[in-house]
Amino acid sequence: MFIWFLTSHDDVGWLKTIDQYYVGSNNSIQGACVENILDSVIMSLRRDPNRKFVFAEMVFFHRWWERQNPEIQKEVRKLVDAGQLEFVNGGWCMHDEAATHYIDMIDQTTLGHQLIKNQFNKTPRAGWQIDPFGHSAVQAYLLGVELGFDSIHFARIDYQDREKRQEDKSLEVIWQGSRTFGSSSQIFANAFPVHYSPPNGFSFEVNTDFNPVQDDPLLFDFNVEIRVNDFINSAMIQANVTRTNHIMWTMGDDFQYQYAESWFKQMDKLIHYVNKDGRVNALYSTPSMYADAKRAASESWPLKTDDYFPYAISANTYFTGFFTSRPTFKRYIRMLSGYYLAARQIEFLIGRRSAGPNTYSLSDALGIAQHHDAVSGTSRLHTTSDYAKRLAIGASEAEITVSSALPCLIDSKLNGQCATPTMTFSQCQLLNISFCPTTEADIPEGKSLVVVAYNPLGWERIDFVRIPVNDHYLVVKDSMGKIIESQYVELDNATRNMRSFYVEAYIGISPKEAPKYWLFFQASVPPLGWNTYFISKASRKGNSKSVYVSLVDHPKNETIVIGPGNLKLSFSSASGQLKRMFNSKSGIDMPVQQSYHWYASSEEAESSDAYHFRPNASTPQVVSRSVPLKVTRGPLVHEVHQQFNSWVYQIIRVFKDKEHAEVEFTIGPIPTENTVGKEIITRVTTNMSTEKVFYTDSNGRDFLKRVRDYRADWPLAVTQPIAGNYYPINLGIFIEDMKSELSVLVDRATGGSSINDGEIELMLHRRIIKDDTGGLVEPLDELICVNGTCEGLTIRGNYYMSINERGTGSRWRRTTGQEIYSPLLLAFSHENAQNWKSSHLTKATAMDANYSLPLNVALITLQELVDGSVLLRIAHLYEAGEDVEYSSLAKVELKKMFAGKTLKALKETSLSANQDKSEMKRTTWEVEDQNGSDPDPIRGGPVDMSTLIVELGPMEIRTFLLRF
Ligand SMILES: [Zn+2]
Repeated sequence: MFIWFLTSHDDVGWLKTIDQYYVGSNNSIQGACVENILDSVIMSLRRDPNRKFVFAEMVFFHRWWERQNPEIQKEVRKLVDAGQLEFVNGGWCMHDEAATHYIDMIDQTTLGHQLIKNQFNKTPRAGWQIDPFGHSAVQAYLLGVELGFDSIHFARIDYQDREKRQEDKSLEVIWQGSRTFGSSSQIFANAFPVHYSPPNGFSFEVNTDFNPVQDDPLLFDFNVEIRVNDFINSAMIQANVTRTNHIMWTMGDDFQYQYAESWFKQMDKLIHYVNKDGRVNALYSTPSMYADAKRAASESWPLKTDDYFPYAISANTYFTGFFTSRPTFKRYIRMLSGYYLAARQIEFLIGRRSAGPNTYSLSDALGIAQHHDAVSGTSRLHTTSDYAKRLAIGASEAEITVSSALPCLIDSKLNGQCATPTMTFSQCQLLNISFCPTTEADIPEGKSLVVVAYNPLGWERIDFVRIPVNDHYLVVKDSMGKIIESQYVELDNATRNMRSFYVEAYIGISPKEAPKYWLFFQASVPPLGWNTYFISKASRKGNSKSVYVSLVDHPKNETIVIGPGNLKLSFSSASGQLKRMFNSKSGIDMPVQQSYHWYASSEEAESSDAYHFRPNASTPQVVSRSVPLKVTRGPLVHEVHQQFNSWVYQIIRVFKDKEHAEVEFTIGPIPTENTVGKEIITRVTTNMSTEKVFYTDSNGRDFLKRVRDYRADWPLAVTQPIAGNYYPINLGIFIEDMKSELSVLVDRATGGSSINDGEIELMLHRRIIKDDTGGLVEPLDELICVNGTCEGLTIRGNYYMSINERGTGSRWRRTTGQEIYSPLLLAFSHENAQNWKSSHLTKATAMDANYSLPLNVALITLQELVDGSVLLRIAHLYEAGEDVEYSSLAKVELKKMFAGKTLKALKETSLSANQDKSEMKRTTWEVEDQNGSDPDPIRGGPVDMSTLIVELGPMEIRTFLLRF
């Protein structure tokens, strides 16, 4: 028997923008119009009830659907009910799996699933990730099983892996992506034998050259027998690499079915004549029907654990460059992802407004940005600009939402109810390059600079606020009016230069002179709450002791030691190199070097580009062996400033009460002379004996063990010793030996590895001059222009390093990782402090005053939906066995979490909230050679409505719809 099914793969932006793809403009770049596809597919389906079609990208479907009249909508609902049109995946887009954060993956899927639920009352059953460049463990167990999918289908796996799987018929597997959940969370995963296009000769797009079935005996070229034989031959080839007698043909390709009848006509005929021939049976089908047939075949399947990274299509084409491509765009997405989480909380806390600004356009833009050519950095520059524009529009609307909601939230008289706030806050998206007009301005007489810090985390945090100011005679007071410690650090030139160029490039205004100082102070903010700080002018004579302008060290000793707290870093004053890290609390003392290098891209035909990474040698060029350093010290933070060369600048910060070092890098413009491309890396080098092993995260969630030059599923032929060992990183990377651990956390999606034992490497930036060979036909050469003056992109960001005793690093990684993802939301205003205090709650929490979530639990969604119900997601942050204390059952008390509100109804749902958890069907599959060491995962029990306590086992995410 044969099973067929049909689809069109419609990228949510790539060579063209999403709008251009939808309406079919700019067809000189690529002939593609999604509106035509949907129009014509629907017409073709209505002509014959046997025909079927699957559609994946709901952002396109949504646009089309909104523009149809009720009559067409009714017809489409009939097609969906009859199973002729099936939504697969059903997210806003077909998300990338390498550069995406799991929270973004959940959000974008929810957006599409809610649409399908509301309009069609359907729940997608199949994952359809046919095009992303490699596949993640989180996709399998979280964005698969937890959505109620029983199968997932994709095309792109490593060429060596595919070859081996063809030989032993293991392309189709039972995938257990989670070490914690093991066999209790598994999905049927179908990797296609070749690609997601049809077998050769069976592509029927209207304007392409194909050999139609000619079945009219009057035609001179009557060819039914020939075409039937071609068909059966192609089927036999595929049957030889597939278990059971069901095979799948993916009848479609990128933006196909512009005139759907062209395909359906051919397939109708082929089905008719092939079935008449009788050797095989062909039919229209869908991925979920295919999976049902596979299950009914009572076959046992090979087991797959971990993931499908990295992905290569040949010896020299490793898709590991895109882990880092377009690093500022990746950072923008991550920053807005955290902001979106906080903004929805605030929106919920004051009650979602039915009119006026809200967070929807940000959710739409973020949904689009998760597409496998968006966050991946693999679309053309004009398309990337279009994504960024959508994000900027969404961000500014969300910012207005937050700025007008905050006054309502914190006004002590209003109790959360307010229509028109009397004052507004400003927020500063360009704070990292010192641009924040409100904090830079002179504080008016009789007023203070009011800083409200909102904490979206479920636990109290102590964090450092850093704002640009022009005056160093300022005092910072806490919510009780007590003066707290503050510290000034003079603004560096790297920031000054970035500010003057990038503020104009990004927001179109030329900024005034850069502020003189960064002002640091420590903020302590309750969970799901806020705290207020008042900054005012000090009397100049009685210069307060708490005001501290950092001293600049002029090192005389051979070794310079920095760090106001437990963690110390020592540097060589001769070379400027980091030499050691030691922590006086844990006793860990480790020789550590830190450096910058670059790989020159290969000049061969298969070179680095937006997708690929192919250095011309295994040893990168060092940026600088010896680098001068400038040290500043104060009570809160010590900083080491280093200019490695004219385009790499770095500040290492060690804060009081923080057990890690923060590295702020400023890289660019990358010079391009004498080379086709440069890929800039940082290396952290220790003498740890790591035996080729390192750990990287899966979409910011589980940590996966990686072994250099090794794959668990096949004997790896190492062709690219660097690129072939790169993995995607969204949360962090760590190494360990018998004694200690070294961990690095990142602030955005990036690529990384451990190329030598004891070493961690991150690729931070890349600029490729040569034209892309992966389809873009455009170099990855990001230019930023102001008034016609263009320069290569300069990036700024952070990574964070910590040393820990073996077995204890996960606490730092999990807690700090959450803090990096969800930073304090800062809002600024100039007000009279006394008036403010008398009318506002200066420090409060939305939870019970004495409550906080356990440290192993994060609140990942709190959102009021359009129908007034509230979407709540809470996530356990630890894997089974990850930490002796925290890898255990955690409890969340909803009564205390929602203090002051009465919870009237609670319903546990699937991850995308489109079906009752209790109604989700778990499909079971027979796994061959399943050994006995399967874990028995801890899971929380049902929620008792009287106690309202939610239990979470390790790595569990539980989703609820609430009514208050
Ligand atoms: Zn695609």
